[in-house]
Amino acid sequence: MKGEMGATAPESLRVISRRLSVTEPATIDPMPRPLHAVIHTQALKANLARVRLAAGDARVWAVVKANAYGHGVARVFEGLRAADGFAVLDLAEAQILRGLDWRGPILLMEGVFEQRDLELCSRLDLWHVVHTEAQIDMLSRHKSQVPQRVFLKMNSGMNRLGFAPERFRSAWVRLNALPQVDEITLMTHFAHADDAVGVGEQLQVFHHTSHDLPGERSLANSAAVLRHGADAAVLGDWVRPGIALYGSAPDHPLHSAAHWGLLPAMSLRSCLIGLQDLKAGDEVGYGGLFKAPHAMRIGVVACGYADGYPRHAPSGTPVLVGGVRCATVGRVSMDMLCVDLTPLPQAQLGTEVTLWGQASTEEVLCIDEVAAAAGTVGYELMCALAPRVPVSSN
Ligand SMILES: *Cc1c(COP(=O)(O)O)cnc(C)c1O
Repeated sequence: MKGEMGATAPESLRVISRRLSVTEPATIDPMPRPLHAVIHTQALKANLARVRLAAGDARVWAVVKANAYGHGVARVFEGLRAADGFAVLDLAEAQILRGLDWRGPILLMEGVFEQRDLELCSRLDLWHVVHTEAQIDMLSRHKSQVPQRVFLKMNSGMNRLGFAPERFRSAWVRLNALPQVDEITLMTHFAHADDAVGVGEQLQVFHHTSHDLPGERSLANSAAVLRHGADAAVLGDWVRPGIALYGSAPDHPLHSAAHWGLLPAMSLRSCLIGLQDLKAGDEVGYGGLFKAPHAMRIGVVACGYADGYPRHAPSGTPVLVGGVRCATVGRVSMDMLCVDLTPLPQAQLGTEVTLWGQASTEEVLCIDEVAAAAGTVGYELMCALAPRVPVSSN
């Protein structure tokens, strides 16, 4: 039986370190931990194709805000470059895309925050959302030779960003009169595309307020495309999927990513760096949150909340060890977490652990399941991947 200080431990860890530094010389420090994330370019391509299938004739923005939902804008670029445009939140993301030589449309989804942002919009040829009078004021003061393409956003009921329906038309008239403005696309965002309430009410408000205004339409996020895409009015001319591209179901647990035909775009993998044989009654981790009900073996995984793994994941959160579904035990600590190895008696130091995504052996643990166990959503886990975790693509 191999204990934590077993003779094979240092050697097996050295082997893993060497393997990692071969695949990822640029981003790995001299003493890497075995934890790393892999971004799957083929999965991104397949997910984009899947969304396109549901989007009919609508053009597709690939939403890459929040650093491409934690995947990295530059890392997902290859997998998503078949999109019709990229939708971003901040100018830095737009600059990265132009730096990658993307010549197609880029949309700033919250528009500009300051007057001077408009100069960068002109320089980088960005389309931008207009959701407040203040942004129209800025546009009216902008000195530009080339008029800009804008997306005028209506608050059709979510009460986040956008003009209230009764102010929408006057905003459109004001924008339309500006020489700084080129085409105006009409836009809104749904609050219930992913749940049983659906999009009906907001769709009606949007249509009622804007049906006789000219211009293209953009309404649908991932959930709206996948769940309500049979209605061409929901799809409009431009859809804005984000989460589906990354392989997470927008309406989990109602439907799984597999149900929608989506593949994980990110795999978070590590390995066992310790083993402990517990007697009945032994505790695991801080606060002794887990008490062994009987003799059992647990493994210690190099991954903790400082890596972005949710600290609130309780005992029982699913994890793949050597591709076999196991469960976490005890409290997640900063750099480590523990797993019950009962389903995999042959597990040893160095055995691969997949926290979410696809194991090397191809079994899949959807990020949505881990998120649900921790009381959150796949979006948050992806976005929270810590900068210290080395990332590679395949
Ligand atoms: C984030 C965002 C999207 C994408 O939403 P998903 O649920 O990830 O598909 C679309 N539109 C707007 C305005 C957004 O902020």
